[in-house]
Amino acid sequence: MRLSTQIALSMIIAACMVGLLAGEAVRYFETSRLHKTLEERANLTISLLNGLMMEDIIIEDVPMIESSLREAVIRNPALEGITVYNESGERIAQYPEDFKPDENTWEFSQNVELEGEVFGKISVHWSTKQGEIQIQNNVAQARIYAAAALAVLTGLFLFLTYKLVLYPLSVVHSRMAATLSGDPWSDLKLPKLASKEFLSLSASVTTLDNILIERTEREEALQIARKNADAASKSKSEFLANMSHEIRTPMNGVIGMAELMLETDLDRDQRLYTETIAKSGAALLTIINDILDFSKIEAGKMTFEQAPFCLQRALEDIVTLVASKASQNNVEVSLRYDPELATVFVGDAGRVRQVVTNIIGNAVKFTQDGQVIVQARGVDVGNKTDLCISISDTGLGIPEDNLKTIFQEFEQVDGAANRKFEGTGLGLAISTRLVRMMGGRIEVESKVGEGSTFSIYLSLERSNTQLASVIDVEADLRGVSVLVVDDLEINRVILSEQLRNWGAIPTTADCALRALEILKEAAANNQMFDLIIVDFQMPDVDGFELARRIRQKQGMVGTPMILLSSVEQTAEVRTQKEFGFSEVLMKPARSVVLKSAIATALNLEKSDEKKKKPGAVDGKSVLEHLNGLRLLVAEDNKTNQLVVKTMLKKLQLDMEIAENGIVVRDKYTLYQPNVILMDMSMPKMDGLEATREIRRIEAELNIPRCPIIALTANAMKGDREQCLRAGMDDYLSKPIVKAKLISHLLKWYKKPAVKEALVASE
Ligand code: ADP
Repeated sequence: MRLSTQIALSMIIAACMVGLLAGEAVRYFETSRLHKTLEERANLTISLLNGLMMEDIIIEDVPMIESSLREAVIRNPALEGITVYNESGERIAQYPEDFKPDENTWEFSQNVELEGEVFGKISVHWSTKQGEIQIQNNVAQARIYAAAALAVLTGLFLFLTYKLVLYPLSVVHSRMAATLSGDPWSDLKLPKLASKEFLSLSASVTTLDNILIERTEREEALQIARKNADAASKSKSEFLANMSHEIRTPMNGVIGMAELMLETDLDRDQRLYTETIAKSGAALLTIINDILDFSKIEAGKMTFEQAPFCLQRALEDIVTLVASKASQNNVEVSLRYDPELATVFVGDAGRVRQVVTNIIGNAVKFTQDGQVIVQARGVDVGNKTDLCISISDTGLGIPEDNLKTIFQEFEQVDGAANRKFEGTGLGLAISTRLVRMMGGRIEVESKVGEGSTFSIYLSLERSNTQLASVIDVEADLRGVSVLVVDDLEINRVILSEQLRNWGAIPTTADCALRALEILKEAAANNQMFDLIIVDFQMPDVDGFELARRIRQKQGMVGTPMILLSSVEQTAEVRTQKEFGFSEVLMKPARSVVLKSAIATALNLEKSDEKKKKPGAVDGKSVLEHLNGLRLLVAEDNKTNQLVVKTMLKKLQLDMEIAENGIVVRDKYTLYQPNVILMDMSMPKMDGLEATREIRRIEAELNIPRCPIIALTANAMKGDREQCLRAGMDDYLSKPIVKAKLISHLLKWYKKPAVKEALVASE
């Protein structure tokens, strides 16, 4: 309801009430006035009659009384009747004789007295009808006047209310509505008479309007900025993909050629220069990969695979890879994988490897002399395991102030000792973000001069999938007694645990002399160890010397021995033969490798084929499997053609080069290759299109499918899917690494013997 209506209604109700009250007041006063008048008149009339009829009443002269009464009634129309009583109260006369009082009759009586003696009583009856009508009229009049006065007042009040309140209010309201809906309102003005309150209300609306206009402008600017940012981000990721391609292609040339050059005869200086090129190239590639990864995370383009992978195998791989480099610095890297912990988990193996590699890499980098221990533990929670992979080193350590900052991008500890190490300061920043995106966290504890421990916490789902790589060597080692000789406690613990896990019975010795003592005691008790595992680098008496002394002992000439070493030269066949080691393994030995080596040493494995161990890919026997392979290489870049050609130069295979997709298609039908290496981007027809063409031809002619391996410099996720969707079988990213190229060729060149060799190498 509008305010004016509300006011009008209230005024009407008030007018009605005031009218009613005024009427009632008038009625009250008029009635009392009427009664008073009647009383006076009755008094007067009775007094007159009293004087006139005193004697007649005393003598009870009824005719006389009656004529006086008639006279009085005729003269006074308001007088309805008069009754006279004698002294004993009996009616002696009445006029009119048949008079009967009704409700409008008002009676007034007075005694007839003379000198204090009562002779009778006169009652006069007055009609109040006339008076009542008069009163009624007066009441009505009073009501009308009151209502009229109030109506006028209401009008005036409404007029003022409209002018002073309602109109300014409606103007402010319209301005407010216009402000909220963003319409202009400049033509709406407050009247000149507007009160101070409305002027300040209007000023507030103006302020609000200004704020809203500002906010709208800011929002519009933000929208535009966001659109621009989206566009920039899109072009950034496209730029990234392109840059990744553009940089990797020449890097492929640099690294590939440097690697190849190192295989030729070089003098000292040339070798140094070439090694520097290869090392710098590899370092540059790491930096490029870091920056690309970081940009991918920043652009929100990082996605994670969910597939079963073997954590133990992944950790062993990383440790093996890092260990040989670390050994050059006198750093020993060991892995302890909790025997109770499951091995196969669901997650992004590549990203887990990336994080662990980076942290182990740092540990090795910042440790000059000592050891790096990698431990994997976990607690099962439902179908998941809360994993903790900790990497402890005995290196430089990190000052407390830097413990938080090192996880930020481009942050490095700025100390004299740290300055000599290369690095971008991106590794930990990327690792932390990757782990966080996988739902985990990285923690660090460190003491300067004592070392650091980085712990990666991740919760991963366990998987029951049987991966080819985790199929165990079948040998049964139950009951085999083994003497483990190593000066480092952690290595003794790890080896004993592994051995116990396989059912063997380990005994440990922390130095060569202790080992000799144990052997002596055993011999005295007529007990012989089935196998001795010896560490090469030990203080005082090293592995070779120990082996020599063992061999001199009676009855120990034939005891199988395995040498564990982190120095590569020891692996030479010569030393192996000289000291009678049945196997020499690089530390840390992967459990499957160790078990297979033990089985071989104890002559437990049945077929020769099974002896093929991981890493044997580069061995002569396996490479022979590639003899006669017809390989078609689709690559437009001359340098890359040369890299592939030279990498495979020493193999007896038959190679054809095609410089674009159309040539690939033609050569495919003429040459009938066993495997095709297909570059993704080529002129005229790209790799994807060429693959589709080849698959079409195969379907048309009903010939067996030729394996196609993509060669691509595009490191962005999605490329692999794109290649597979186009009909390719595998994927090799540039720069091409010789070992990977060969293992891929072995994998796809389907000769029955190769397949078996691969079971071992995978
Ligand atoms: P980068 O190794 O490329 O410099 P990171 O982000 O991997 O970058 O590491 C950041 C810094 O943290 C390193 O520069 C180093 O100062 C410090 N740091 C990392 N790991 C260790 C470690 N294990 N021992 C000592 N310092 C470390």
